[in-house]
Amino acid sequence: MQKLVLASNNAKKIKELNALLAPLGFEVIPQGQLGIPEAEEPYGTFIENALTKARHAAAHSGLPALADDSGLCVRALGGAPGVLSARYAGEPKSDARNNEKLLADLTGQTDRRAHFVSLLVLCRSADDPQPIIAEGEWHGEILSTPRGAEGFGYDPLFFVPSTGLTAAELDPETKNRLSHRGQAMQQLIARLPML
Ligand code: IMP
Repeated sequence: MQKLVLASNNAKKIKELNALLAPLGFEVIPQGQLGIPEAEEPYGTFIENALTKARHAAAHSGLPALADDSGLCVRALGGAPGVLSARYAGEPKSDARNNEKLLADLTGQTDRRAHFVSLLVLCRSADDPQPIIAEGEWHGEILSTPRGAEGFGYDPLFFVPSTGLTAAELDPETKNRLSHRGQAMQQLIARLPML
């Protein structure tokens, strides 16, 4: 098995990525398991944050490292919450309060279009001059009331027109196939033989 450090401690995210990578012979090790502290994410774009996190995990572990920076971009809010998705309603981060704030911000808004973005960066080493980069988008609409109990984050408010369900009503396999992260992973996987 090829060891790959994951620059995330989000249990649900780790589970989603593991389901995709384990069958390909990768042993995904969350960075927390190696005592690696979380990197700062001070940047305004997903790509800058993902690259910083992957480089940080590779530097601390001496292993190839994969980072995902993701978030929800809502059209009527000029792309917010964007890179601030995890902490949209402030500290401590809370999915429930983030969803409440999103609904409050969209009160009276008829344009409910939104998309999730996932930026994946794989650094073979901390000074890899050409990290593997993949990007996925998943388009949908923000409902006025939450539905479903699967997934995490904004999933209960994210309606996927092609399925007639919210992301939180989809079974995990279907979400992995359709989602921003699933799409980015498929791109990344196509390039993994380069490792
Ligand atoms: P990150 O850990 O900095 O990438 O923060 C991502 C944040 O974006 C999460 O905490 C969620 O709020 C949101 N997010 C990203 N992907 C998803 C998803 O698949 N479903 C629901 N929310 C997501």
